[in-house]
Amino acid sequence: MKNLYNALQLKQLYQLKNLGYCYTSANPFSYEEQKPLQLADTLDELKKQAKKCHLCSLSTGRNRVVFGEGNPNADIMFIGDIPMEIEESEGRPFLGRGGEMLTLMIEKVLGLLREEVYITNFIKCHTLNNQEPKEVEIQSCKGYIFKEIELVNPKIIVTLGELSYWHIYGDKIALKDIRGSLLRYKTHSLIPTYHPNFLLKNPSFKNDVFEDLKKIKANLL
Ligand code: SF4
Repeated sequence: MKNLYNALQLKQLYQLKNLGYCYTSANPFSYEEQKPLQLADTLDELKKQAKKCHLCSLSTGRNRVVFGEGNPNADIMFIGDIPMEIEESEGRPFLGRGGEMLTLMIEKVLGLLREEVYITNFIKCHTLNNQEPKEVEIQSCKGYIFKEIELVNPKIIVTLGELSYWHIYGDKIALKDIRGSLLRYKTHSLIPTYHPNFLLKNPSFKNDVFEDLKKIKANLL
């Protein structure tokens, strides 16, 4: 029954596409009552769900969904903003030079292995030309990150970049004014800091991140 519903809805979408629509919220066939999306209760199942996700238009241009990885019971969870092209090509978060920098930060400053922490992004699909995601894409995707946080249940969340900080903590303070602050988010500590890709372009901010990492380490003890 569900397959029939999906097939009918797909057919309708293709018809609308042929008429020139780029995106539609039209839903001419109702399947039971419109239930809210139920997110899985394990990381493995949530990952499978995200891999098949077509909730927003980013699904049309992506090659791979980039879900989080690492220790599912980690004390520290790093959350970046959006996956870069290299992350999409492998389907893994924080690869390339930015990923190498994050790994060095974890190993050299925190004294941990990358496998001991959990690493993910707020948005799970790469955006064309690394554009900022649109509000509708953020709203569509945010359920995944909130569920990931709930399932990993880390002691400390480290947001890397403004987008992840703004949409998890829920304010719009500029990162330069809030980075390094020890905040409380639900049952977790939260420390916002700069994204490694930002540091690659602005190496003079590395000392700030070094100080933030020392604070993270102190709060792990
Ligand atoms: S960005 Fe998020 S909501 Fe949009 S298609 Fe990808 S996984 Fe789904």
